[in-house]
Amino acid sequence: TEANSGAPSIFDKIISKEIPSTIVYEDEKVLAFRDINPQAPVHVLVIPKLRDGLTELGKAEPRHEDILGHLLHASKIVAEKEGIVDGFRVVINSGASACQSVYHLHLHVLGGRQMKWPPG
Ligand code: 5GP
Repeated sequence: TEANSGAPSIFDKIISKEIPSTIVYEDEKVLAFRDINPQAPVHVLVIPKLRDGLTELGKAEPRHEDILGHLLHASKIVAEKEGIVDGFRVVINSGASACQSVYHLHLHVLGGRQMKWPPG
């Protein structure tokens, strides 16, 4: 299945800019771009440029600790740049039962409206 394969995902084509995206933040390790199907006024995906086996959070290993921390901090920078730092949500869907659809780890940064809890 896609979830278990080492095949490149659509996000590799976004990283290589083969597929265009609206980039809102980028550094040497991560790329943040607008979700094509936004679920809130602000909906940005933050991804590692190097997948390194991180198809999903459930596959994280000790070697991924640095990039995982970097992704979270980048999410805060995105929230600040987007003007939602006072109230935003970061979501990671890991695996099919969590509705993950792209198997390259990504953090959803959502905001710009009142969020509901629980998310369902
Ligand atoms: P998941 O369901 O795996 O947690 O989230 C995948 C997200 O990627 C979805 O919110 C979906 O809208 C977004 N997405 C899928 N393909 C593309 C694409 O080609 N470009 C952009 N910008 N977002 C995409």
